[in-house]
Amino acid sequence: MIIAGGGVGGLALANVLQHHCEVILLERTEEFKRFGGPIQLASNALQIIQTMDRNVYDQIMEQFTFTGDKTNGIKDGIRDEWYAKFDLGTPAKKRNMPYTGVIDRPELQDIYIKSLAPGILQNGDGVQGYTKTPRGGVTVQCASGKVVEGDVLIGADGIWSNVRSAMRNEPSKGEGSGASYSGYTVFAGELAYPSSDNGEVGYKVYIGPSQYFVITDIGKGNYQWYAFLAKPPGSADTEEKPDGSSMHLQKVFAGWSPDIHHILQATQEHEIQQRDLYDRPPSVLKPWTDETVALLGDSIHAMMPNLGQGGCQAIEDAMVLAQELKSAKLRSEIPAKLDSYRTRRLVRSAAVQGLSRFASDIIIRGFDTPAKIVWDETNGIQFQNFNYAGIVTKLLQPILPIFFSVQFNFLYEGWRNEMAIDVEAGLAFLVIGGTILLLGAGSVGEAGVGLGLGLETLLGSEGLEAILASVRELTSL
Ligand SMILES: Cc1cc2nc3c(=O)[nH]c(=O)nc-3n(C[C@H](O)[C@H](O)[C@H](O)COP(=O)(O)OP(=O)(O)OC[C@H]3O[C@@H](n4cnc5c(N)ncnc54)[C@H](O)[C@@H]3O)c2cc1C
Repeated sequence: MIIAGGGVGGLALANVLQHHCEVILLERTEEFKRFGGPIQLASNALQIIQTMDRNVYDQIMEQFTFTGDKTNGIKDGIRDEWYAKFDLGTPAKKRNMPYTGVIDRPELQDIYIKSLAPGILQNGDGVQGYTKTPRGGVTVQCASGKVVEGDVLIGADGIWSNVRSAMRNEPSKGEGSGASYSGYTVFAGELAYPSSDNGEVGYKVYIGPSQYFVITDIGKGNYQWYAFLAKPPGSADTEEKPDGSSMHLQKVFAGWSPDIHHILQATQEHEIQQRDLYDRPPSVLKPWTDETVALLGDSIHAMMPNLGQGGCQAIEDAMVLAQELKSAKLRSEIPAKLDSYRTRRLVRSAAVQGLSRFASDIIIRGFDTPAKIVWDETNGIQFQNFNYAGIVTKLLQPILPIFFSVQFNFLYEGWRNEMAIDVEAGLAFLVIGGTILLLGAGSVGEAGVGLGLGLETLLGSEGLEAILASVRELTSL
């Protein structure tokens, strides 16, 4: 078995399959660099890691910071008050699952690399393409000129996957690759920070007009923040920031919560990075597999980072692939096993992709400071922000906690990926997600946002089609 790419998905797969077959993990980089900041491992991914390798799980726990047991939610960025809280803890507790939390990516990577038998991980071998052999296996060509043969090839080589490019005969990057610029750029900062709510609050998502800001406790007195802005691609290079990124953001978020300004002022320039965000639409019509070759993680379902689920979904892929491949008794069964992997993962990953995109679109383009009536002795009654978006944001306030509950129950309940689709959760999405989208329609100002951001955005066009097909099937029984 050959795995291309030693990211979180490739490492998790190699970790579990090394006990069942000969594994070669080809990683393009010469050595893993210690960069990347923290990664959220949500309850669904943690439950899988615990099931796949208890030893890896225990080591992760030693470095882990829980957020699921803390207060998390959305704050009004201008008024600096809670708008809606989301409960990460109850859906996990109800199912006896570990709480969501964060770990440093390099720590996670180290734990997985150390779990691999010597010789499995081969650094400095970028996969360029593959050809199928007459006996049903694959030959993999590396950039170094090395050629490796195996029964199965898994493309875990990230959003710009060469394995996907070879499978679909399309470019790995740029036009025609299927990955497109999301319309958003993100500034991220990571620093030691004495937050006044340390130990009580996990995530704070500050919403307001046309942008948002996130502050997360990442443990050991450290914090991470993100500023999501709608910008044309390449703004990191084209936009002038003569006083640096921190000052730039302080101006962009002028008038927003003092929390945002405190953390920006405390952040040094070398602690800030900016990157444009790319994702893909769900792949339903395009292949996930090619006989004994399959795609995993970002190579097939790269998504926006808003839900912190991209890596978690790669871990779900790894579990399902391992289960399917372990159950094959004969080489000739492998293509059917890989097809079954796709069937089990397609709709769930599409829904998470859609939700992740939906979260950025609705928060940036749909939300505003909620409308509010205030009274004081000097000015009497005031109607604050009584525009369409402000009223919609206010109307959504009681709906959002229900939506979050549906979302987290869906994410946590489905970790086994036993069914192609969880119809009950899918229908809940249709109802609650549809309401949010319809309300959001006017504030985005696009004709029929129900299609513009749309249910397609929420579930992925083909995820939506799959849900509807399942409902049709059920109702015809
Ligand atoms: C700002 C941001 C924050 C995020 N936060 C979270 C989070 O909190 N939680 C979460 O779950 N997800 C998060 N994600 C998403 C997550 O990073 C990805 O979904 C996840 O890393 C995907 O894992 P992967 O193994 O599929 O691919 P990757 O992690 O991209 O790994 C691909 C690997 O393949 C290697 N490679 C590339 N090309 C080749 C080749 N041709 N041959 C061999 N090797 C190759 C690369 O060097 C790399 O090691 C975030 C993403 C972003 C952008």
